[in-house]
Amino acid sequence: MERSAKCSCGSLSAIASGPPLKVSACHCKSCQRRTGSAFGVAVFFNAAEVAYAGESSTYVRVGDSGKDLTFYFCPSCGSTVYWMPGFRPGLVAIALGCFDDVTDLAPSQSVYNDAAHSWVSLRLE
Ligand SMILES: [Zn+2]
Ligand SMILES: [Zn+2]
Repeated sequence: MERSAKCSCGSLSAIASGPPLKVSACHCKSCQRRTGSAFGVAVFFNAAEVAYAGESSTYVRVGDSGKDLTFYFCPSCGSTVYWMPGFRPGLVAIALGCFDDVTDLAPSQSVYNDAAHSWVSLRLE
């Protein structure tokens, strides 16, 4: 089963041919800034099972693990579609909100729960 994710304008996309390995919500401030929303949700895949199409720009930040995270976003509309977590080599994270179909992509964990807004009830161990 193929799953496709794309940016707001549709010019940058990621297509996963393998199964999702984990769906993780993150309440950290960096994910709040990246998404402009209350929390981020990442869907992890084996990097070897994901193909990309369209032009991207990158933004690199150092995570709390001390390893780099490289975010790929659309130069036209700014949506971050996917990123490479340096602390998990071989995996790629794709932004949940970019997928066409998210019916079976409910988060299985949430991290940085201490940073969650008081009005957000999504806290999973
Ligand atoms: Zn775009
Ligand atoms: Zn985060």
